[in-house]
Amino acid sequence: MKTNYCDYIIVGSGIAGLYIALLAIERGSVLVLTKGSIDDCNTRYAQGGIAVAMGKDDSPELHFEDTISAGAGLSDAEAVRILTDEAADCIADLIKFGVPFDTLDGEITLTREAAHSVPRVMHAGGDATGEHIEVTLSRQVRSTPIKVLENCLASEILVQNDKVIGVKALDCRTGSVEEYHCQYLILATGGAGKLFKYTTNSNVVTGDGIALAFEAGAEICDIEFFQFHPTVLRLPGVAPFLISEAVRGEGGILKNVEGHRFMPDYAVEAELATRDVVARSIVYEMNKTHSDRVFLDVTHLPSRLITTRFPHIYRFCRDHGLDLTKGLIPVAPAAHYLMGGVNVNNWGETNISGLFAAGETACTGVHGANRLASNSLLESVVFSKRVVQKTEMTTPPHYDEDRSDEAIFSCLPNRKVLPKIPPFNLPNLQSLMWDKVGIIRSGESLEKATDILASWESLLPQPSDRPSYELNNLVSCARLVTEAALFRKESRGAHFRTDFPQASPEWQRHIVFTKNVTK
Ligand SMILES: Cc1cc2nc3c(=O)[nH]c(=O)nc-3n(C[C@H](O)[C@H](O)[C@H](O)COP(=O)(O)OP(=O)(O)OC[C@H]3O[C@@H](n4cnc5c(N)ncnc54)[C@H](O)[C@@H]3O)c2cc1C
Repeated sequence: MKTNYCDYIIVGSGIAGLYIALLAIERGSVLVLTKGSIDDCNTRYAQGGIAVAMGKDDSPELHFEDTISAGAGLSDAEAVRILTDEAADCIADLIKFGVPFDTLDGEITLTREAAHSVPRVMHAGGDATGEHIEVTLSRQVRSTPIKVLENCLASEILVQNDKVIGVKALDCRTGSVEEYHCQYLILATGGAGKLFKYTTNSNVVTGDGIALAFEAGAEICDIEFFQFHPTVLRLPGVAPFLISEAVRGEGGILKNVEGHRFMPDYAVEAELATRDVVARSIVYEMNKTHSDRVFLDVTHLPSRLITTRFPHIYRFCRDHGLDLTKGLIPVAPAAHYLMGGVNVNNWGETNISGLFAAGETACTGVHGANRLASNSLLESVVFSKRVVQKTEMTTPPHYDEDRSDEAIFSCLPNRKVLPKIPPFNLPNLQSLMWDKVGIIRSGESLEKATDILASWESLLPQPSDRPSYELNNLVSCARLVTEAALFRKESRGAHFRTDFPQASPEWQRHIVFTKNVTK
C-alpha cells in the first residue's frame, strides 16, 4: 500500500484540480486522479472569462457589492470579501503559469457581463478563455513531478477514525479498483450539469464528488440552487453549445419567434438582468409563443466586433450554417452551474478531517442563490490557493464551519418506494430533472420527482464500470437537489417555485444535508 501513498491526492483535472496540484507540488508529493483524459472537464469550455476588479473605475469593493447582490441574500459576506480581495493575487499566478489573457496596447482587455456594474471580465483567445487556461495548466503540470492518472474514477472516500486516509478508484480501462492513500484528499470534481436533459456541461460532470462526499458523511449545502444559462444554441441534432453572456454584454438583444424584443418587458436591465431572470423570461416567452426557442440578435453590431471578440462562437455557428453577422441565433436555456455543493469553510475544509473540496464541487458560499457570471473560475483559483495554504499551517486541519448559525441541518427524509416507476436509466433521469426540477418548479412537481428518485435509489445496482458509477452518483445528487428544492418553501435566486413565488425572510438560510445530523 505504501507505493500508493501521496501527500496530496486531488480528484479532478479542471482549473481547481490543476491549480492546486501546481501549488501543492512545492510542498509534497501530488497525485491527480481524473476519470477521462486530463482536459476532459468544464473548464475548457468556459468562454466569457474570469472576473477581477482591475479596471480604472473598478475596485474589490464594487466587485464585492455586485457579487452579494447577485447572490440574492445567501452569499457569505466573508467568503465574498476573500474572493474579491484575493482575486488579483491568483490572477497573477495564472499569468505566471502562462495563461495568455487578451491585451490591447499592452493592457489587459476587460468585458462587461450581465449584473457586473463595470467591465471586469478578463478573457483569452476572445471567447476561448477556458481552453487557454486548461491547456496552459495541464502543460505546466506535465513539466513537474506531479503524477496524473487518467481514466481513473474515484469511487469511494476512505475515512478512518473520522479522518480521511485516501480514496478508492476504478481503472476505467481494466475495471480494477485500487486504494490510494494520502494525508490530504481534495475533491475538485466539478458540478453536476449532466443531471439535466439540456446542459452546457461536459459529459464528465456527473456530481461524483458530491455523491461520494455525502456518502462519506460530509455536509452538502445550497444544492437546490442550480443556474440555468439563458442562451444556449438550440439547433436540432446539435449538442447544446453556449452562447456566452458576453454576447449580450456587447449589445446582443433577445427577440421571441414573433420578432418582439421582450426583455425590457421583464426587467429594467433588459438583456443584462441576472441569469435566472433572463432564463425564466425566455421560458415564459417560449410558452407564450408555443416555441422551443427564442432568438439572440447581434446583426446590428459591427461584423468585425463579432468575428474578433467571439471567434469561437462565430466559427461554431458558421460550421452549423448560421452567420451571426447576418442572421438570428436560435437559443434556449440549459442547465449550467451548480451554486451549492460540498460544504466548506473559508479554507476549503469539509467537516471530515483531511477532506477538502474546491472549484464547482465545493460550496464556499460566495455564489449564494445565484452566481455572478465569471465568478466561478475566480472562485476556483482563490479558494484552491487557500486549500494549499491551509495544509501548510502547522496546526492540523480543523473544520471551522462559519455558516452553521444560518443553516438548517437535516438528513434526507425517508420516502416510500413506489410500486410502479419508470425504468431507471440516464435519459429518464435527465428528463425527470428537466421537467420537474428545472427552471420553474412547484411543490407538486418536486414531490413527484422525489418519490421516483427515492424509488430508483432503493434499487441501485452495484456499479461496475464508469457509466454505472456515474449514474449512481447522478441519482444521489438528483435526490439531494430535489429534496432541498422541496424543503425550501420560497423562491430565491435561481430557485423558483410557482407555489411560493416570492422570497421569504424566514428562508434566508442555508439548507445543509448530511447523513448524520449532529447539530
Ligand atoms: C460552457 C461553459 C462555459 C462557462 N463559462 C464560464 C466563464 O466564462 N467564466 C466562469 O467563471 N465560469 C464559466 N463556466 C463555469 C466554469 O467553467 C466551471 O465552474 C469551472 O471550470 C469548474 O472547474 P472545476 O475545476 O471545479 O471543474 P471541471 O473543470 O468541471 O473539472 C472537473 C474534473 O473532475 C473530474 N472528475 C469528476 N468526477 C471524477 C471522479 N469520480 N474521479 C476522477 N475524476 C473525476 C473530471 O473528469 C474533470 O477533470 C462555464 C461552464 C461551462 C460548462
